[in-house]
Amino acid sequence: MTAPQTSTAARAVLEQVFGYPCFRGQQGEIIDCIAAGGDALVLMPTGGGKSLCYQIPALLREGVAIVVSPLIALMADQVAALRQQGVRAAALNSSLSIEERLEIGRALEAGELDLLYVAPERLLGGDLLQRLSGIRIALFAIDEAHCVSQWGHDFRPEYLQLDILGSRFPGVPRVALTATADERTREEIRQRLLPADARIFVSSFDRPNIRYEVGLKDRPREQLLRFIRERHAGESGIVYCMSRRATEQIADWLNTRDIPALAYHAGLEPALRRHHQSRFLREDGLVMVATVAFGMGIDKPDVRFVAHLDLPKTLEAYYQETGRAGRDGLPAEAWLVYGLQDIYRIRQMSSESQASAGHKRRERQRLEALLAFCETTQCRRPTLLAHFGEAYPERCGNCDNCQNPPRTWDAADPARRLLSCVYRTGQRFGAAHVIDVLLGENGERLRQRGHERLSTFGIGTDLPRATWQSITRQLLAHGYLEPDPEGHGGLRLAEACRPLLRGESGLSLREDLPSRRAQPRMRVAAADVTVDPDTWAALRAERRRLAEREGVPPYVIFHDATLL
Ligand code: ADP
Ligand code: MG
Ligand code: ZN
Repeated sequence: MTAPQTSTAARAVLEQVFGYPCFRGQQGEIIDCIAAGGDALVLMPTGGGKSLCYQIPALLREGVAIVVSPLIALMADQVAALRQQGVRAAALNSSLSIEERLEIGRALEAGELDLLYVAPERLLGGDLLQRLSGIRIALFAIDEAHCVSQWGHDFRPEYLQLDILGSRFPGVPRVALTATADERTREEIRQRLLPADARIFVSSFDRPNIRYEVGLKDRPREQLLRFIRERHAGESGIVYCMSRRATEQIADWLNTRDIPALAYHAGLEPALRRHHQSRFLREDGLVMVATVAFGMGIDKPDVRFVAHLDLPKTLEAYYQETGRAGRDGLPAEAWLVYGLQDIYRIRQMSSESQASAGHKRRERQRLEALLAFCETTQCRRPTLLAHFGEAYPERCGNCDNCQNPPRTWDAADPARRLLSCVYRTGQRFGAAHVIDVLLGENGERLRQRGHERLSTFGIGTDLPRATWQSITRQLLAHGYLEPDPEGHGGLRLAEACRPLLRGESGLSLREDLPSRRAQPRMRVAAADVTVDPDTWAALRAERRRLAEREGVPPYVIFHDATLL
C-alpha cells in the first residue's frame, strides 16, 4: 500500500521543512500509511519521534490537521517550533484573547492553517466541530492517547468523547499516539478512538541509553545528594516524590546544598507552576523535584537523570517517568530507592482499593510487576520490557544488576524463623517489633506484651538487625507476608508461605549491599590548634547535630586553622 511517490514526498518534507536527513525507526512507514488516508495507532517510547508521524502527513495532505493535545504548555512549545520551520500552525486554548481566537477562526476558514492544536474540551465544547464540518480536514491526530484510559493516572474524561470523530468525519484519517504501551491501554485506545481496521505500529520500547539502578532506601536525602553530586553535578534532572510537601522540602534542601532545584506539584499556583516548568525547560542544570503531576509530554532533550525517592504506582508509571531522561539519546540514568515501608504502602493500597474484582486482579498484577522489577537479581531490562510484551533475550550490560551482579543466599531457615515469629506474636505487629523479639531486644515493650516468654524470643541473635530487615522486606515483596488488614502497620502470613514453612520449598534471597553509611566521608585533620572552650563547645554541638542528621562522624575538622 506504500505509494513510492508518497515516500519521496515525505522525505522531501523531512529534509526541507524539518532539516533531518532520515527517518527514525518506523516513522517513514507510519507517515506513508496516514498520508495515504489510513488510520493508525502509534506506540513509540517517549522521545521516539511521534510528532513527525502526524506533522508530515499534515503537510502532505490537503486541508488542516487537527491535533488533540492535553496540555497547553505542550501545544505552545510545538506550535512555536513548527512556526520556526515555516509551518502554518496555531493552538486554540483558554489562554488566548478573544481577538487571537477570532484570528485563528478566520485563518482556519480561509484555509491558511496546516495544523491546529486544540485541547479536547475546546474541540468538543462550543461550535468548533460545527465549523470544522465546513472545511477540509487533513487528519485528526490524538496525542497522548492513553489519556482515554480510565485506569491510567493521566485519565481525561473528554478523551472518551473523541469517539464521535469517526461518525462526524467519516473518511478523515485518525491517528492516535502514545508512549504507554501495556496491552490493556493499547486495546482501550483502539476500541475507543480508532476504527477496527486501524494499523498498529509498535516500536521497541527499549531505551538503551538509560541505565537503570534500584537501591535500598536508607537515608534518602543523603543518597540523592550523593547520587547527584557524584554522577550528575551541574546537570538537569527530575526527582519524583509521592507527596507535595516532600517535593518542596527536598527542593529547599537541595538548594541549601548548592544544587539548584525547583518544586512542582498540582497544588502550586498555576502561574508558579508554569514558571517552574518553563525555567526547567530553558535553563541548564536545574533539578525539578516533582510529583507525578509533572512531566507528561515534557520535551527536554538533555534530562540526564530521573530519580525516584518513593516507589511509583506501577511499572508503566515508572517506565513513563524514567523515559523523560535521555531523550537526546545520550547516556542517562534512572535511579530509584525504596524500602520496606514503600512496599507495605503499595501492597496496602492495592488490597484496600474499592475496585471491582477484575480491576483488582489487574492492579495486583501491575503491583507484582513493579516489585519483581525492584527485587530481581537479574538484568532489569527483560523484566521491564516483558511488561510491554517485548522479549529481551540478553543481559543489557547497562543496569546495576548487570554491572554488579547481586549475590543471593539460602535464606530458608531464617525466613522460617521470622515467619513463625510473626505467627507467634499474633500476626498484628510491624517489622520492628517482630525483629525485636527475634533479637531479644527492647525488653520493656516486649515484657508488657508477654513476648519475652515466646518460644521465638531471642532466636535470631545470629544475624544482625539489617539482615532481618532485608529478609522482612523481601518476604513482603515476594508475597510471603502481607499487610494486616486492620491497617496498623502489622504483618501477617500470606497463603504463599505454607510450602516454605512446611519445608517443602526453599528460599533464596538477595544479599543486600551494605549501606555506604559505614564509610566515613570526612577526614579528621587535627593540627596544632588553639580554641577557646566556648567556641569548641559550639563546634562540637554543631558537629553532633550534623552527625545525627546526616550521619557524618562527629569530629571537628580544622584545616591548618587557628581558632581563638
Ligand atoms: P515523542 O513525542 O515521541 O516523545 P518527539 O516527537 O517530541 O517525541 O521527538 C523527540 C525529539 O526527536 C525531537 O527533538 C525531534 O525533533 C527529534 N526527532 C524526531 N524525529 C527525528 C528524526 N527523524 N531525525 C532526527 N530527529 C528527530
Ligand atoms: Mg510527543
Ligand atoms: Zn542489565
